[in-house]
Amino acid sequence: MNATANSADGERGAAGSAKPARKPARSRTGGPAASGGSAGAGTAATPAKRTKQAKQESRTALVRRARKINRELAEVYYYAHPELDFENPFELLVATVLSAQTTDLRVNQTTPRLFAAYPTPAAMADADPADVEELIRPTGFFRNKTKSLIGLSTALRDRFDGEVPGRLEDLVSLPGVGRKTAHVVLGNAFGKPGITVDTHFQRLVRRWKWTEQTDPDKIEAEVGAIFPKKDWTMLSHRVIFHGRRICHSRKPACGACPIAHLCPSFGEGETDPEKAKKLLKYEMGGYPGQRLKPPADYPGKPAPAAGGEPAG
Ligand code: SF4
Repeated sequence: MNATANSADGERGAAGSAKPARKPARSRTGGPAASGGSAGAGTAATPAKRTKQAKQESRTALVRRARKINRELAEVYYYAHPELDFENPFELLVATVLSAQTTDLRVNQTTPRLFAAYPTPAAMADADPADVEELIRPTGFFRNKTKSLIGLSTALRDRFDGEVPGRLEDLVSLPGVGRKTAHVVLGNAFGKPGITVDTHFQRLVRRWKWTEQTDPDKIEAEVGAIFPKKDWTMLSHRVIFHGRRICHSRKPACGACPIAHLCPSFGEGETDPEKAKKLLKYEMGGYPGQRLKPPADYPGKPAPAAGGEPAG
């Protein structure tokens, strides 16, 4: 996923046709309603005006706008899900550790052989580091990741009876496991709500003026205060989906963005609808997704196994 994740998402932009989302993009010729919905179509706001609007937005208006964004993203990404392939909590934990600084696609193409060789914490704890390094080499930083995998597997075997614990404080005590990884595991393997503050989440919530914080823990706290706890996990998936497909780091596809009317940063990227459409990725651009085994309601194509065609 990078269900998650801090994946680099380095794939090129897709040039294919956009898979129609359930909710069509609204007219965004005039920019978004940044402050309590005051700015509508035909009232193009300058960056300075948008900044002023954002500053003037009351707490109540911000909460209302943020929750509306979440509701609209839920319609667009009705199929949002963790984008790491996994069958059990241990596989999700391992995959999430591997997802640092790479794409979920690369992890998903790597883990089948790893899990076949080391299906349990006990098996991975006893692994020869050189063998693990070789298997996970495609994910980058493979020496450090191998240390984390063998370390956390040893801790699971020795301290938790070979089971992945379902408590935050236990998870973060494992080697190589921080709050982000812990929340991914808690939210998706244990059904315990958590906010996943990865690179996409950080970028988007700042673009939406939900927070001005840059520290992940403070972002987690401020965004968590806007939404009911039960919404945290799916909110995280939707925000990350949007960041990967439309609201990219360098070239956000504002002209093809279904929530542009709610975004104070409309115009930060391409606003021409046709040009913006060409920036869409994964199923939005008509390309395969990141999971080799996507959920049944995923409207795109499964990702190819290692050595297959590149995803969009
Ligand atoms: S793509 Fe543009 S309009 Fe859409 S959320 Fe990102 S910055 Fe805002």
